Amino acid sequence: MRTEYTGRFAPSPTGELHFGSLVAAVASFADAKHHNGNWLLRIDDIDQPRKADGSSESIIATLKAFGFEWDGPTRWQSQRELKYLEATSLLRGRGLAYPCRCSRRQIEKTAQAGTEGMIYPGTCRRWDGAGAQQASIRMRTTSVETSVPDRIVGRISQNLEEQVGDFVIFRADGITAYQLAVVVDDFLDNITHVVRGADLELSTPRQVYLQRRLGYPTPHYAHIPLVRDHKGEKISKRDGAYPVDPARPLPALHAAWGFLRQRPLTGPIADVDDFWDSAAKTWCINTLRGAAADCADVNDS
Ligand code: GLU
Repeated sequence: MRTEYTGRFAPSPTGELHFGSLVAAVASFADAKHHNGNWLLRIDDIDQPRKADGSSESIIATLKAFGFEWDGPTRWQSQRELKYLEATSLLRGRGLAYPCRCSRRQIEKTAQAGTEGMIYPGTCRRWDGAGAQQASIRMRTTSVETSVPDRIVGRISQNLEEQVGDFVIFRADGITAYQLAVVVDDFLDNITHVVRGADLELSTPRQVYLQRRLGYPTPHYAHIPLVRDHKGEKISKRDGAYPVDPARPLPALHAAWGFLRQRPLTGPIADVDDFWDSAAKTWCINTLRGAAADCADVNDS
């Protein structure tokens, strides 16, 4: 039976697929398959300067070797620039976003540290943008709490004006900011369920705020624990750390499954297809919020 579920995995092509991204991919694919849902692959390649050569191709080949199967064609952020510009114009037209010419250095002089980076002090809020060559576009925030449920962490809330400040949706170098691109993408792809790493938890209120201003639905969110290195830092593709070996998918899949605190898989697992057949049945997201007892019912939310 098909349910109203569309999930996605959205790697940035900044290096090889590493164990941390594999864990995110496993969680989102298993959750989608457990719910008989669709699952899409989107390559977040809008930020061309950060792109590593050959990374998209290598990530796609590795995902295939690991038995991931996505519905429809691969989506590419680089092909959606017009859609992002339309959303930016709409927000500007409604007075919800404004041009900003402050440099990072100017902001650092006066701003206070916030939840993530400096809190923009609103210097350009009243500037009309006249004569701007290279301006960024910032989203006007309000001091109303933006709050959204999360299937693992419970609830994510932020007072955006106080904790984050007016944030950039279009960068001065002409690139759409991640926060806006991801919101437009998830809308265009009808994404109903986002399962991703906890490093994006703090971005979620900004994304929900944008969805509400643009009149888009908000997906169900689940933020999974991050894989950290021995120093306690998030492992990242750019460091080239912990790449996974496409020639030996099963050990890494089992390790990701264990990291996600899932119940052991049953039946002989000879290849990746056996792994996913069993994983789709066994997956239970509740173990990640310490509620394994709620897994008896396979129809978990
Ligand atoms: N492309 C983002 C990343 O690799 C993930 C985007 C998302 O899942 O919302 O960190």
